[in-house]
Amino acid sequence: MPIIRKEAKDTLTAVEMDRGDVLEFTLRSGSVVRMELVSTKAEIFRTTLKQIKIEEHLARTDYRFKCRLKINGKEVELEREVSTQKSFYEPWTIGGLQIWFDAVDDIFEFLTDTHGGCRPGKHARFAIQDPTMRICPVKLHPWCPLPEPGLKIENCYTGEDCWMGAYFGTSAHGGLDINHPRGTPLWAPIDIHDHFFFNSLEMGHNNNRWRGIHHWENGAEWILQAHHMTSLAVPEHRPLKKGEQFANGAGVLSGEVDHSHFVFKIHDEGETILLDPWILFRQMYIEK
Ligand SMILES: [Zn+2]
Repeated sequence: MPIIRKEAKDTLTAVEMDRGDVLEFTLRSGSVVRMELVSTKAEIFRTTLKQIKIEEHLARTDYRFKCRLKINGKEVELEREVSTQKSFYEPWTIGGLQIWFDAVDDIFEFLTDTHGGCRPGKHARFAIQDPTMRICPVKLHPWCPLPEPGLKIENCYTGEDCWMGAYFGTSAHGGLDINHPRGTPLWAPIDIHDHFFFNSLEMGHNNNRWRGIHHWENGAEWILQAHHMTSLAVPEHRPLKKGEQFANGAGVLSGEVDHSHFVFKIHDEGETILLDPWILFRQMYIEK
């Protein structure tokens, strides 16, 4: 049985697991929690598609995904829903772990992988933290003006483009879309040590895609991205302070409705793992 060993850090730990893998997670107290991935599953519970995996303009597909875990010997089942309002979920706290259940690979039985990277590298993907610790050691500044009273699935592009939502009923969406007018200010949620457009109209792409990088003292790197930017507000590569406006968001080739597309990745111990940007936005709502 393959064992993945991780130790609680002062930032969230992202982990991908195959069925049968065991995560041994050392808490800050020194005690070790053993979490085995027993099984995973996904199913559509509502779709307007005539044919699965064939995109249709404005079609929608909602699905559920589950996993069974054995945590310190005790079996639990976690279940998520996408892309209903429940896509904006709370993490579980079980057996001394705080668990964000991010994705299972089973969804690609009925979705395609053609709208930005989001497919897990293994059967399931999680973010884990010691519940006595925060997702990172600093408070997050809002990335954009936070819609009140909270994120609404209706305002994620045409109502389905949350993280891994089914774009046009078919393609897993590799980001979180938030609808807002062209030019909406975007701010650095944390200090950003380097930033730049990695795709731009000027380079011949069909989008202006911004990437900002933060290096934590513990060795982890957070990679934040915002796409469809109208323009940058500061020169590329100049470090940004938390809260500083870096761009005028939305507006560039943003399709049916102006929106910014947000992406969150953690690079640590030689791996880069994508996670739901909702994890960051949830924290911004808690701390605003
Ligand atoms: Zn998008």
